Amino acid sequence: MKIIRSRQELNEYLQLEREAGHSVGLVPTMGALHPGHITLIDRSVSENDTTICSLFVNPTQFNNEGDLTNYPRQEEEDFGMLRAASCDAVLVPEAAEVYPKGEDPGIHAIDFGFLETIMEGKHRPGHFRGVGIIISIFFEWVQPNRSYYGEKDYQQLMVIQELNRRKNYGVDVIGCTTVRESDGLAMSSRNLRLTPEQRPHASLIYQCLKDASERSGKDSIETIYASVAEVFSSDEVMDLEYFEVADADSLKPISDWSEASRWVACTAAFAGEVRLIDNMVLNP
Ligand code: AMP
Repeated sequence: MKIIRSRQELNEYLQLEREAGHSVGLVPTMGALHPGHITLIDRSVSENDTTICSLFVNPTQFNNEGDLTNYPRQEEEDFGMLRAASCDAVLVPEAAEVYPKGEDPGIHAIDFGFLETIMEGKHRPGHFRGVGIIISIFFEWVQPNRSYYGEKDYQQLMVIQELNRRKNYGVDVIGCTTVRESDGLAMSSRNLRLTPEQRPHASLIYQCLKDASERSGKDSIETIYASVAEVFSSDEVMDLEYFEVADADSLKPISDWSEASRWVACTAAFAGEVRLIDNMVLNP
């Protein structure tokens, strides 16, 4: 596996791949890889001649300094997992090259409008602006044929599809199923920060989504919200930030099942300082 740390090395690598007529798959990550990330790599390896995984803890998408500082970093372990998954190259750029001094990252930003005003957009102001910035930069650097994202970050996937459309990148943006632990907790790099005491409580998020899925189309959305609020208020570890049912195609919130044909529930909750998100399409 080629380890690429600069744009120059990336260009040299890409030139050889392009000359060989190879298709390129890009999997952007922030590292601290787990089997959820590896399913994206597997899919890219199976659909492209060469797969590049980026590892970059992107400062412009963090709205909370502590979250950025505490974000797990484990480069050598990540390289080992990527090699085992037959990833062809890993891009580990320096922040100083991604964001050159004196250049406003905002030149890459686009306004996602409504998508930035709800759920993750509302609770993490500036987050999707930062995601849009970094994905624009990587799409421009790599010009991949395909790029892979987890449905775990449902709203992010919609934001990237919108970015791709609006900036006309022509990348095939592909969503991949959420990989879960045996108790249903969505795999996440942030799970590493859960204490052994907190960890069992975190599966509450999945239980609420599953329950909402079983009751969808039958019980009212309002009663589902009430049950979720009740379940969280009686748990001594987990704090609910939001739980919302929306149109799965537009993410517009709905208050009645008849308002959309596909429904998604999206949620964020805290276990202590650790913020976890998850979602489920209720009528897949
Ligand atoms: P991150 O490193 O958290 O930015 O995630 C990098 C990519 O992996 C994103 O597209 C995520 O949606 C995806 N991802 C993270 N966790 C999972 C999971 N449990 N299942 C599938 N994809 C995931």
